[in-house]
Amino acid sequence: MDHQLALPWLRNYPGEVAPDVEIPNLAIGELLLQAAAKYPANEALFFFGKRTTYKELLAAAQRMAAGLQAAGVGKGDRVAVMLPNCPQAVIAYFGVLLAGGVVVMTNPLYVERELEHQLRDSGASVIVTLDMLYPRLARVRGDTPESGPVPQLRKVIVTSIQDGLPFPKNLLYPVKQRRAGKQPQIPYGKDGVTRFASFMAKAPKLPAEVAPDPERDIALLQYTGGTTGTAKGVMLTHRNLIANAAQCEAWFYRVQEGKERFLAALPLFHVFGLTVIMNFSVLKAGSIVLLPRFEIEAVLKAIRDEKPSIFPGAPTMYVALLNHPEAKKYDLSSIKACISGSAPLPLEVQTQFEAVTGGRLIEGYGLTEAAPVTHANPIWTKRKIGTIGLPLPGTLAKVVDLETGETLPPGEIGELLVKGPQVMQGYWNKPEATAAALQEGWLRTGDLAQIDGDGFFTIVDRIKDIIIAGGFNIYPREVEEVLYEHPGVKEAAVIGLKDAYRGETVKAFVVLRKDVNVSSMQLDRWCRERLAVFKVPHVYEFRSELPMTMIGKVLRRKLQEDEELAAAGN
Ligand code: AMP
Repeated sequence: MDHQLALPWLRNYPGEVAPDVEIPNLAIGELLLQAAAKYPANEALFFFGKRTTYKELLAAAQRMAAGLQAAGVGKGDRVAVMLPNCPQAVIAYFGVLLAGGVVVMTNPLYVERELEHQLRDSGASVIVTLDMLYPRLARVRGDTPESGPVPQLRKVIVTSIQDGLPFPKNLLYPVKQRRAGKQPQIPYGKDGVTRFASFMAKAPKLPAEVAPDPERDIALLQYTGGTTGTAKGVMLTHRNLIANAAQCEAWFYRVQEGKERFLAALPLFHVFGLTVIMNFSVLKAGSIVLLPRFEIEAVLKAIRDEKPSIFPGAPTMYVALLNHPEAKKYDLSSIKACISGSAPLPLEVQTQFEAVTGGRLIEGYGLTEAAPVTHANPIWTKRKIGTIGLPLPGTLAKVVDLETGETLPPGEIGELLVKGPQVMQGYWNKPEATAAALQEGWLRTGDLAQIDGDGFFTIVDRIKDIIIAGGFNIYPREVEEVLYEHPGVKEAAVIGLKDAYRGETVKAFVVLRKDVNVSSMQLDRWCRERLAVFKVPHVYEFRSELPMTMIGKVLRRKLQEDEELAAAGN
């Protein structure tokens, strides 16, 4: 018996249903061209009072594209974009794509080691980044970039947040820092380093047309640990990205063209924000209210003043918003629909949030390899709390037996597999990992799931070992490796602890070498120097030994069970 489910909402909800999905045969750059042709004067971006229209955004992206082409970027060339949410991030994204290049989204929280891996692995020849992040990049490139670890990185385009603001330069630098000369020193004109503003000023107005093949050409390399933990570039084509934006559009079918405002509290460098905010907004000629980082008061004020209607987020964000003592003082009634992803959404959060805003908050599910959304609860019809909902239109999903690979009937737990136009082409330069993840078009998610009789899916656990804290993925193995590098550490094991606010936090168990004394503060410093801050353990426990399997592998599960027993007071 085969329980693959295609478009189950059509069957289950004959009353009010989403239309089936039609995937426009376009390249991503064409979405912007289309929106700008139809709604040139509509607002496309809003950033601290500065409004950018579609006509202006297109003109800036075209200039960026033409400048990149003049700098030698052609079809298939990788360009890294390491920026927080700001207009330049959107300009750079569309600029690279209009030039025919491939965007390599780079997390601005990466430390040198992570950044070096991504730049080397992707082979990016250009990076667009922020002045404040430049010193980190300079350390990766070394004193003589041509002979450093990333010699192929020829050009560095440096912008500052001020470039996207309506007010004068330097206002954002705290006066004290300015006086102390703490602004980063950037060697403009040397080693291929260029100021964003002069790069744009010198660029020709229009790029040469590249006409990417939406089905074949890669638009994005999005790095993720996947199921094994080593960061790999997920290859997403123009069609993969367009498909997922169109699938979201079909799901959010009441969203109106040219009328919506999307709150970008999620980072656009993560594929969730990239698709569900940036691409979705441009597909619907909406406006993106950009927030450079998640600060709860800024979010509340942005909702009150800018009245966004769509607010995709991670559960942590909604929890923080509800727990803010002043939240009730703000008028949040502009919110129509929110989709929560990345981690399970607690029931209380959903109910309270809906009571406060009057809008709908639904749980969805996805992963980088699927651009990312594959499931979501219906927004305006019957949903099931605690489930991830139904597969999006055009998406097939099944639960299979871990050993035999056989499709399981409803009620049984197995690995969730998905298939659809949003599923990646594979991992960049990693044929073996690709073969393990993709089988006959089915993507193995690495998550354990169950289907109920109505076709709703529930995520039960993860097969892969990732910890998800505040929406960020943390691979225990990576943190353990950093701990193992410490000369005083003999053994280390890392697990996720349940945390009411962040979902999970990182705990490290450490066995020290004989006769050495290392404090948790010293380990904390060690990890902070080598890992992005969200991966750094919050708690250390020193033990004389760790539970091991017969073949000497640390039994993480045993440690996890010990913690759960301790938490239950046994
Ligand atoms: P990423 O590739 O960073 O988007 O992470 C994808 C992983 O996040 C999935 O494989 C799941 O393990 C987890 N995830 C995403 N959404 C949910 C959800 N609604 N409930 C539980 N886990 C989720």
